[in-house]
Amino acid sequence: MRAQPTASHFIDGAYVEDTAGAVIECVYAATGAVIARLHEATPALIDAALASAARAQADWAALAPVERGRVLHRAASLIRVRNRELSELETLDTGKPLQETLVADASSGADALEYFAGFAPTVTGQTIALGGDDFVYTLREPLGVCVGIGAWNYPTQIACWKAAPALAFGNAMVFKPSEVTPLCALKIAEIFIEAGAPPGLFNVVQGRGAVGAALVTDPRTDKVSLTGSVPTGRKVYAAAADGIRHVTMELGGKSPIVIFDDANLDDAVGAAMLGNFYSTGQICSNGTRVFVQKGIKARFLQRLRERTEAIVIGDPLEEATQMGPMVSADQLDKVTAYIAIGQSEGATLITGGTRLDQPGNYLRPTVFADVTDTMTIAREEIFGPVMAVLEFETEKEAIARANDTEFGLAAGVFTADLARAHRVVRRFQAGTCWINTYNLTPVQAPFGGSKLSGVGRENGHAALEHYTQVKSVYVGSGPVDAPY
Ligand code: NDP
Repeated sequence: MRAQPTASHFIDGAYVEDTAGAVIECVYAATGAVIARLHEATPALIDAALASAARAQADWAALAPVERGRVLHRAASLIRVRNRELSELETLDTGKPLQETLVADASSGADALEYFAGFAPTVTGQTIALGGDDFVYTLREPLGVCVGIGAWNYPTQIACWKAAPALAFGNAMVFKPSEVTPLCALKIAEIFIEAGAPPGLFNVVQGRGAVGAALVTDPRTDKVSLTGSVPTGRKVYAAAADGIRHVTMELGGKSPIVIFDDANLDDAVGAAMLGNFYSTGQICSNGTRVFVQKGIKARFLQRLRERTEAIVIGDPLEEATQMGPMVSADQLDKVTAYIAIGQSEGATLITGGTRLDQPGNYLRPTVFADVTDTMTIAREEIFGPVMAVLEFETEKEAIARANDTEFGLAAGVFTADLARAHRVVRRFQAGTCWINTYNLTPVQAPFGGSKLSGVGRENGHAALEHYTQVKSVYVGSGPVDAPY
């Protein structure tokens, strides 16, 4: 099986190769086979990408927003028409099952492009009365050249969620995918050109952290949007600070789901499974600390175990498969190490915990019960299909324990008592919360974290704040009153 792209990079409207760059092997997670060989961007290519973005941005920003929107709409339509092809590529890039990628990746990217295409022409400024004839008006202006750096779990969606608002509001972008999943963003770059975007408006350069670091610190870069882990976020945030660049940081989490005795049992079980096993557990907002009230816990665990053991795990290209392999052997090793730590620290393994006896990075969906707040598996982001179930008795206790984490990406509550649901979410220290559902992230809703989980928001109207800047214009209407 091969998925070799035309070339490693997409710069100034065309595929570009430079074999002087270190090799990146793209490995299919389901078999371990190398399906593509790419090269890291050399300094000359990084320079070319930034230069072309800067060139394209000025003319693009001068277009009427509705014209920019038209290009984004066309790109969204092309993505929808090619959904199957793009979904298969996403599956090859990440190992996520086709059953998911057909509905959650390219289509989510298209949603973002459509949303921001429609949003762009609605952006207006303010007029601010000052008394008398003078007044101030404000203009929303693009930031300039934005650098997007992606994680490996949602390569198409991350590229689109960053590009859509950036481009809609008049910016250009240089995007660096994770070295683990280099394929999908190239297709999005191709599609933008086909949709009528000017060359250079959206460039893709491949590379490891050093390429990302070179992009972040370049004087032509005005904004950096990273999706990644907290340690990388710290480095990128600090590097961007040197040039006082705008940043959006979408980082990791250790999010709680609080399930009260009166919750609908099957809904709560289903949501906890979605929030731990979808995308083989490799989702930043996963609810990996599942707090279950004492009265429902035994029934919850029994139903959870039955449904978890029925998950169809296997070949991700089979549409009946519900769970694929982990993205890489490294990630599999990291997650299995956490499972061993969970057992050694005294958590009870309810199901899973073992690899499948076949090639590929397969791990059975894993549930631990009797987890305590201080255990490593309840404190650190695992980023794999490992659920920790913790017991609680009172609402006050659940809120305090849910918030007892350095992360603040997401949180969920399940209860039939809606007054309690709203009370609890108001007290959650998290950027995105769900009531009686989990992990739904429509593009209309702002998404992002508090505490160590990040700064800024993607999607929704909130994205406007992060891809534009405000210019105030004071209009003087009378004589200038100078005292000298
Ligand atoms: P990493 O933090 O390892 O990498 C993220 C990206 O940053 C990669 O493209 C990486 O390149 C790049 N990078 C690494 N070092 C630097 C540097 N010094 N300067 C610039 N760029 C750099 O994350 P993962 O790819 O392992 O993704 C998993 C993490 O992402 C998890 O913590 C998860 O929670 C988080 N995440 C957050 C989401 C959110 O929206 N909040 C959504 C999805 C994931 P390379 O990989 O090539 O080394």
